[in-house]
Amino acid sequence: MIAIYPGSFDPVTNGHIDIIKRCASTFDYVIVAVLINQNKNVMFSAEERIKMIQKSFIGYDNVKVESFDGLLVEYARSKNAQIIIRGLRAISDYEYEMQMSLFNYQLAPEIETLFLVARGPFSYLSSSIVKEVASYGGDISSFVPSHVENNIIKNIQKRRV
Ligand code: ADP
Repeated sequence: MIAIYPGSFDPVTNGHIDIIKRCASTFDYVIVAVLINQNKNVMFSAEERIKMIQKSFIGYDNVKVESFDGLLVEYARSKNAQIIIRGLRAISDYEYEMQMSLFNYQLAPEIETLFLVARGPFSYLSSSIVKEVASYGGDISSFVPSHVENNIIKNIQKRRV
């Protein structure tokens, strides 16, 4: 079975990585689909976001990272994926995720959305909080891989110049 895990991943965090690893051991094939955000303020380009995820999954033969644009269900159909994976953190994720999954069901009833509950330490972890903490000089080393940490710090320093 092919599963798609869509998101912004701006940038990938240890919470995303945990979800991807769990999918990789459950499904035959996982496509991590990086959304090309047109109207969202992002820190990293889609190419940079893809590279950071790929670097975190060297040696995982059944994890593929791609970019996508447009309707998620159309993209999933084009990849022959039967499953959309989303992660659920605190209750605040619930309403939006439920709306999206019902909407996607209306558009493509043959595609199932599955939710994986974030594991304890990742329940309150998001890309935005990591970027915010880093912008104030806080230590983010336990929230993202070291190559991602370096890229965030470089990006913040570049913006300050
Ligand atoms: P989006 O912009 O679609 O919310 P994100 O890149 O923030 O994309 O997240 C992609 C998916 O990963 C979403 O389903 C989100 O709920 C989930 N997710 C984000 N952070 C975590 C985490 N720390 N633990 C588990 N799931 C997470």
